[in-house]
Amino acid sequence: MNILIINCGSSSIKYQLFSMERKASLLNGIVEKIGSEEASVTHRKGEKKHKQTIGVPDYFSAVEIIAGLLTHPEWGAVEEKSAIHAIGHRVVHGGEEFKSSVVIDKHVMERIKYYGKLAPLHNPPAYNGIRGTMQIFPHTVQVAVFDTAFHQTMPEEAYLYGLPYKLYKQYCIRRYGFHGTSHRYVAEAAAKMLKRPLVKLKLITCHLGNGCSITAVKNGKSVDTSMGFTPLEGLLMGTRCGDIDPALVGYIMEKEKMTINQVNDLMNRKSGLLGLSGISNDMRDLLECAKKGNHRAKLAIDVFIYRVKKYIGAYIAVMNGADTVILTAGIGENVAIMKQRLSKEMSNVLGRRIKILTIHTDEERLIAFDTYELVKNKK
Ligand code: AMP
Repeated sequence: MNILIINCGSSSIKYQLFSMERKASLLNGIVEKIGSEEASVTHRKGEKKHKQTIGVPDYFSAVEIIAGLLTHPEWGAVEEKSAIHAIGHRVVHGGEEFKSSVVIDKHVMERIKYYGKLAPLHNPPAYNGIRGTMQIFPHTVQVAVFDTAFHQTMPEEAYLYGLPYKLYKQYCIRRYGFHGTSHRYVAEAAAKMLKRPLVKLKLITCHLGNGCSITAVKNGKSVDTSMGFTPLEGLLMGTRCGDIDPALVGYIMEKEKMTINQVNDLMNRKSGLLGLSGISNDMRDLLECAKKGNHRAKLAIDVFIYRVKKYIGAYIAVMNGADTVILTAGIGENVAIMKQRLSKEMSNVLGRRIKILTIHTDEERLIAFDTYELVKNKK
């Protein structure tokens, strides 16, 4: 069975084609800057890469281009569109409703659109991408895999904010958590590596990429996570501030004469590693500058690691212990000092028992697997 994975961002679509029998990725790529004159497609098959600048006015055209590449004699992997047996979509927000992946029907489409009110930057492009895909692959089963689903097991005490309860009831204001697919993937992979059942483990999964979040996974279930109502809460990130005193929003508006949208932009796009260092949101640049003695680069790295330690400590407390801490995503997988410093600076907390593992995350593979599980009996 060939499964196509579609991951729509605010102006891009990432895609990847899997053969489930061969347990292999056949090709992948990205259409970027959708809606602009400089839109481009980067397509990879094996070692070969092909990049083209091309007009892509909307998501429908982007999916059309992807479909053309999948069946292309040189760049494709299948002869006809009908050889794509199912399509799995990454969808950021599924509210409290979607606790696992689902086959997409009219109702699911309406709800993905509805939850755009909770994820205005993420759900609308996913909705448009799915619509485009349904038009171009009208006979193919489509599945939605939600970023929030894995965290739906959190208890009330972890997901409620200390705000009037009626705001939760009225506006669904609560912690949702994100990166669920990644946390679930590395938790399952860790259990396999440790040769122990996932239901008997207490894991702390640290997704440290451009966006960062940490999850406490107890007996295979998410019991707390650092991102909240939006992906802004928690750790320091590339350009996001993570936890701050909520009173600062009004204070900054007043002092800087900013609107609420400008403060939102400041906290989402101009803060984090970029804001603190004044240099870059990319950890590689900061490591390089810190090595040359740049104080602000070093400071940004220190704040980043400090916050990771704080959350690991909190989650050990929440679960009353832990078996393993898992580091994943761009920074978690590649920055050696992360593991070194956590081991050294938390040696008393971790003791000999709690190991730190680095595991490569592969959200797309998990989306493919979930899609396969939902459609295998329909074929
Ligand atoms: P991601 O969102 O998972 O792609 O991760 C992006 C972050 O990972 C950026 O801050 C990158 O600087 C960082 N990153 C990726 N590769 C490396 C590397 N080889 N060394 C250090 N940082 C890396």
